[in-house]
Amino acid sequence: YQEIRLILGDQLNAEHSWFQNKSHECLYVIAELHQEMSYVKHHIQKVCAFFHAMGNFSQALNQAGHDCLYLNLDDTQAYDSLVELIEGLVSKYDATTFAYQLPDEYRLRKQLSNLKLKGCDIKAYSTEHFFLDESEFGQYFQKDKHNRMESFYRKMRKRFDILMDGQNPRGGQWNYDKKNRNKLKKEDIQQIPEPLMFANDVSKILARLKKHQITTFGKEETSLLWPTSRKQARQLLQYFCESCLPQFGEFQDAMTTATVHKWSLYHSRLSFALNAKILSPQEVISAAIDAFEANDHIDIAQIEGFTRQILGWREFVRGLYWTHEEYAKKNYFNAKRDLPQYFWTGETQMRCLSEAVTQSLDYAYAHHIQRLMITGNFCLLTEIDPDQVDEWYLGIYVDAIEWVEMPNTRGMSQFADGGIIATKPYAASANYVHKMSDYCSSCTYSHTEKTSDNACPLNSLYWRFIDHNKEKLQQNQRMGMIYNVWNKKDSSEKEQILNKAAGVLRNIENL
Ligand code: FAD
Repeated sequence: YQEIRLILGDQLNAEHSWFQNKSHECLYVIAELHQEMSYVKHHIQKVCAFFHAMGNFSQALNQAGHDCLYLNLDDTQAYDSLVELIEGLVSKYDATTFAYQLPDEYRLRKQLSNLKLKGCDIKAYSTEHFFLDESEFGQYFQKDKHNRMESFYRKMRKRFDILMDGQNPRGGQWNYDKKNRNKLKKEDIQQIPEPLMFANDVSKILARLKKHQITTFGKEETSLLWPTSRKQARQLLQYFCESCLPQFGEFQDAMTTATVHKWSLYHSRLSFALNAKILSPQEVISAAIDAFEANDHIDIAQIEGFTRQILGWREFVRGLYWTHEEYAKKNYFNAKRDLPQYFWTGETQMRCLSEAVTQSLDYAYAHHIQRLMITGNFCLLTEIDPDQVDEWYLGIYVDAIEWVEMPNTRGMSQFADGGIIATKPYAASANYVHKMSDYCSSCTYSHTEKTSDNACPLNSLYWRFIDHNKEKLQQNQRMGMIYNVWNKKDSSEKEQILNKAAGVLRNIENL
């Protein structure tokens, strides 16, 4: 082979221009890498989803007439790193060109950009996946300043002419959030659709993981529910458009325990297929807009809410990731506490936390508000070291890749970036949890109490967070009201709350 082209596990883009021509002088390589198993401890379903999807992609390439070599953990065992593997392949096939698509994270990108191969040209290509090209980041993102998602999103809507009537947003408004974000009422529960799940047999992958003693965590399933081929991913997209989009925005932030479908609700669960690049963001948005246009029962608030997530948030966090290389070091609140053990077991009496963690262990999935306002909020209020928080999120979710995980976790949920992404910390007491879910009604702790023995820990922790970070947050306009409330409390009440919070923190492993 003259040319070797590497395809990483999250580069399964069948529409890439690479595949427009066929040549038997070009060998595509897809490899299960030991180094990718150890940079963080992954959920077992996450590893299975990636390996299975990689295997399917390799098969599809061969069936389409390309030459693709799939290397499994047995085949790559002899190589200590990706670089060694590439050197080995180039010399084995006497290749004169080595090509790769630019990785979406610093770690792999550095590894590949430092690569030197004697007598072999190295070429890097775009993944051709995102709306924005990296060269355009300078026009959209400012370093070390607060970047507003809303204005970014409006620019994107205009530029790509999505949900627009000429220069104006479709329906007359840019944002319909006020209509959205309702709690699920009893009568809503029966309507929740049964999620479309696949049954991918991953037993061979599981056997390989065991053989190579790969450490993983989470619930092992031989039948994997996540979509691992283009066909399945498109089925899931279609299912979403038909069954979930009509209520997507309305219940986007809702949480419940009242149905077995509590983990999926109206969420698309397309993040794995998107992040592995099996689906493009363009086709996901187009399919959803087509469904909206063809169906009177899908209102503008739903489609706008969905478009905002992908055209807005997803592209936005990526831009911030690449414009802030030092993001991984940020720790605005100087948080240092260890992540409690129940993040690995779900065994806590706090119902909200146990629901979100158990579900994450069972499915390698939680929806946005569970990630942000349950596990994220808890870590923020208890000052867990953001390195440990990042590590947990990066390992547990099937869709977790650093470029999207880190800005969301460190930035949005932990405010460790001091406000580059969010205008204020997403800190909340039990009041929020109760407003958006039915978790509190079946909890040992009381969501209305602050200082009693069975008071919800979030309540005192919330006020402690406010008090403790006064210097850093009091000047923030969006926090003004909350400081007014805190400042008006009399000193004995404050003291009781702070004492309670101190007790909660001392006892953090046993909540
Ligand atoms: P839906 O609710 O159906 O949303 C549709 C799509 O919009 C998603 O598939 C996703 O591609 C995109 N999207 C929505 N919100 C965001 C966002 N904030 N940032 C980027 N894209 C978004 N998303 C990941 O893809 N990988 C992660 O590792 C990840 N880590 C997160 C960590 C924390 C602490 C938080 C608060 C959020 C994180 N998110 C992450 C964003 C979001 O929670 C997930 O994208 C979403 O829950 C995936 O489920 P879904 O496909 O059903 O999403």
